[in-house]
Amino acid sequence: MICEMCGSDVPRTKLVMVEGAAVSSCPKCEKFASSGAVKTKEGKVMLPSVADRLGNRERRMRHKDVLTRGEKELVDDYPQRVRKGRQKTGMSQDDLAKSLNEKKSIIVKVENGDIRPTDKLVTRLERALDITLKEYLEIDDGDGPKQQSSKGMTLGDFIKTK
Ligand SMILES: [Zn+2]
Repeated sequence: MICEMCGSDVPRTKLVMVEGAAVSSCPKCEKFASSGAVKTKEGKVMLPSVADRLGNRERRMRHKDVLTRGEKELVDDYPQRVRKGRQKTGMSQDDLAKSLNEKKSIIVKVENGDIRPTDKLVTRLERALDITLKEYLEIDDGDGPKQQSSKGMTLGDFIKTK
C-alpha cells in the first residue's frame, strides 16, 4: 500500500482525515495527520509547523519589501549629478544658487561633495535640473547567506530528513 502523504510503500495504511479529506496514511504520517497537518494549494500535505514557518517567512519578506520601497537614499554620486545637470542647463553655480534662493557656497559644496544637501534642497535641485538624486537602495538586513528555501517541502520530506 502506498501512503498518500509521504509516498512510501508500507504494508498497511490507515485512512486519516486531513482537512476533511480521507487520506491513506502510513502509521508515521497518521501521527502527523492527527496533529493537524494541512493541505497546501498544490495539494501537498504539510505539517502545521512547516506551514507556519513558511507563513512567517512570507510575512517577513513582505515587511522587508515595504521597508525597501519606503526609503529613498541620497545617491553617492550626487556631486557629479548636480554638476552635470547644472552644466546641461547652461547655468553657472551662481545662476543655480540664485534660482534656488541659496548661497553660491552651498552649491559649490554640494558639487564638491563637501556637504550633503538637505532633503528640501535635494527636491529643489531635482526639479530645477531635472535630475534624480535619491533612489531606492537595497537594504542589507544582515541575514547572511541566503537560506535554502523550504518551499515545497512536504510531510514526506520532513520525515525523511528527520
Ligand atoms: Zn507516510
